[in-house]
Amino acid sequence: MCDCQSLQPGHNSGLEGLALYAASSHLRRKLHLLLEAHHLAFELHGPAFVVAADSFTALNVLVDSFSMTERHELMSTPCQGSQPDPWQTAPLVQWLHRLNTPWFVGAAQHLHFEIQPIVGLGTMQVYGHEALVRARWNGQHLGAPALLNAAAAHGQARAFDAQARRNAITQVYPMLPPQQRLFVNFSPSVVYNPEICLQTTFEACREVGADLSRLVFEVTESEAFPDLKMLRRILQRYRAEGAQVALDDLGAGHTSLLYLAELQPDVVKLDQALIRGLHADDARLPLVEALISYAHALGIQVVAEGIETADELALVMELGSDYGQGYYLGRPAANPVADLPISRPMGQGRN
Ligand code: C2E
Ligand code: MG
Ligand code: MG
Repeated sequence: MCDCQSLQPGHNSGLEGLALYAASSHLRRKLHLLLEAHHLAFELHGPAFVVAADSFTALNVLVDSFSMTERHELMSTPCQGSQPDPWQTAPLVQWLHRLNTPWFVGAAQHLHFEIQPIVGLGTMQVYGHEALVRARWNGQHLGAPALLNAAAAHGQARAFDAQARRNAITQVYPMLPPQQRLFVNFSPSVVYNPEICLQTTFEACREVGADLSRLVFEVTESEAFPDLKMLRRILQRYRAEGAQVALDDLGAGHTSLLYLAELQPDVVKLDQALIRGLHADDARLPLVEALISYAHALGIQVVAEGIETADELALVMELGSDYGQGYYLGRPAANPVADLPISRPMGQGRN
């Protein structure tokens, strides 16, 4: 069951070689020529070129000579001794990513969270907090991007996401003042069956006696998740338990606007890229205003993320955002805040 796996050390430790395979004879010839041109020692094992561990760094340079399409057709299999393990065959770029990304052995056992306030802009009251994952490892403090990247590179994304969700609920929910919502991130790509994969999340809720109507699950990376039908099922599963769902980072990358209408989340979070540096003559203003109106027309509430200044706050209030989040309103911190030290800017906001 995907929620129950524990995070294990990456299995690349002690890797002695990589067997490289090319999908076509043209690509095989090119690979052969490049290995020779880069003075990389290799052994031929049938169709595979087996390269030893001391050449892995040079392989990073070698792959730059292949087009994006070619890179996906270059496969590799890790070898212990001269024995390739066919179960671990993956594109060479994926293996190189894994070899180049540190794996924080045991860090997942020490997950903790910083929490950041989300503020109701009508009242300037703290509406809830978002849990942002962190870990301590070997005296280092690791942030969310490093942890997520390492987990993905080492094939541990599913276990990591489930563990982070579980820990967010058990560690953060009990700290929150009553009535405040807890916003929990999750990556839909790790869920293959909502019934099974979300089980331990709901168990964690029961463990701390959580009122599920105070939980909001934020879909991250929705644009990298083309299976809308599955995404809808995941959101339905959360809602069936009484929780709310949010679409995170709208406006970042290629997040599809259609997702708003298709998924009808309870909340949408406008990405920081739309908010940061916003000023009175900004060309983004009509876009932000249109997004807010569109969300409201669909009955979806809006959080503006990445508010760093009083001016940005005043503008998003004027444009009708329901909630705000950002360093100006409160930085991620160990403990929740009950009240804000700042008050509503004079004459701002519609609600
Ligand atoms: P996100 O969910 O959009 O979270 C907001 C990110 O923006 C956080 O970075 C936060 O620290 C940062 N931030 C908040 N306000 C401001 C601001 O005013 N200015 C700037 N420059 N940054 C601000 P963080 O903690 O590094 O998280 C990055 C991303 O990692 C998150 O983006 C989320 O997608 C993901 N993430 C974090 N925790 C988890 C988790 O437990 N599970 C999963 N699946 N993803 C997580
Ligand atoms: Mg988020
Ligand atoms: Mg976000």
